[in-house]
Amino acid sequence: MHGCPCGYFGDQGRVCHCTPMQIQNYRGKISGPLLDRFDLHVEVPRLNYSELKDGDGNESSIVVRDRVMAARQRQWARLGPAKTNAEMTAKETKEFTKLTPSGESLLQKIFDSQHLSARSHDRILRVSRTIADLGGCSDILPEHLAEAIQYRALDKRLQV
Ligand SMILES: [Zn+2]
Repeated sequence: MHGCPCGYFGDQGRVCHCTPMQIQNYRGKISGPLLDRFDLHVEVPRLNYSELKDGDGNESSIVVRDRVMAARQRQWARLGPAKTNAEMTAKETKEFTKLTPSGESLLQKIFDSQHLSARSHDRILRVSRTIADLGGCSDILPEHLAEAIQYRALDKRLQV
């Protein structure tokens, strides 16, 4: 989806003339309970010509695939064959996404200030677990949690 009716909200190169009310109405078309069902809400800025043409030195797919496979192996060892973090039950989420005390207080702060739903809370934990797995880390560190929170852009952006 776009960020606003004209599509230029947050765009570096174009000006958005939508009013906060128009933006709110536009975003309100997607309900909170529906947004809750997405793991990631990420803003993707428009690319300029050279970025589009040359890329920006991204890793090759082979390197990324190896990292994803290593993360999958960690998940399978924890959850059983072929089961991913996204498929964890509430009980497994509780058991396998324990936070450090500073992570715990960060999540509490975000939960209270953004009025997150229980579903969104659990998604943040599961995504944090995956980010830690991708980093080869057995503990979920505050930085993993912070990254997962950042992927919930629309939880907070709903209030313009
Ligand atoms: Zn606009």
